[in-house]
Amino acid sequence: MSDRERLDEVLNRVSVAADKAELAANDITLIAVSKTFDADSIRPVLKAGQRVFGENRVQESEGKWPGLKEEFPDARLHLIGPLQSNKTREAVALFDAIHTVDREKIAVTLAKEMVAQGRTLELFVQVNTGEEPQKAGISPREAVAFVERCKTVHGLSIEGLMCIPPFDENPGPHFALLRKLAQEAGLEKLSMGMSADFETAIEFGATHIRVGSAIFGSRG
Ligand SMILES: *Cc1c(COP(=O)(O)O)cnc(C)c1O
Repeated sequence: MSDRERLDEVLNRVSVAADKAELAANDITLIAVSKTFDADSIRPVLKAGQRVFGENRVQESEGKWPGLKEEFPDARLHLIGPLQSNKTREAVALFDAIHTVDREKIAVTLAKEMVAQGRTLELFVQVNTGEEPQKAGISPREAVAFVERCKTVHGLSIEGLMCIPPFDENPGPHFALLRKLAQEAGLEKLSMGMSADFETAIEFGATHIRVGSAIFGSRG
């Protein structure tokens, strides 16, 4: 199957899941996760009309996206992997959205860089819903207060929450927890769901799904 056929299939599945959840497919942003794929593999998906992409590494993205954004100026790039504070300048220059705000230090440096560069990015706070020690994200108990501090202390407007459920667990309860926390924090956007579980995520109200291998094939 070509990338284009896989993209069509994912879009169909999104629209069926949206119907079931009584949502408009338009309310769900499909982020095509192109990490590990080079510009020549990404271009056909851009040519097929997909405009929102996700990457998990700043440095890898700097190698392929400035050129692709020149070819496709309306492409939007989301950072879905951890952000190191020493990469914040590059990240703010290249990305349009960051899903992984999860600690004070990143909030401070992001706020500073967005002002310095005169850019406003769409920001999500990552929540470690499974409280896994090796995983990034703020703990569910601290999430609402952290969102509030981003606004009042750092002047950062957070638009949504993001999670990556534990690999070996039923994702539903994690998606439900993320939705509940977003309601408490007064946020509307939910970044949740990947190739294996995006339909479940839509059932739980996902507004942004991050789909890699179902579009680009396996990462080998
Ligand atoms: C790689 C990645 C995805 C996409 O994963 P697939 O299983 O290939 O769809 C989604 N979210 C994050 C944070 C990722 O790193």
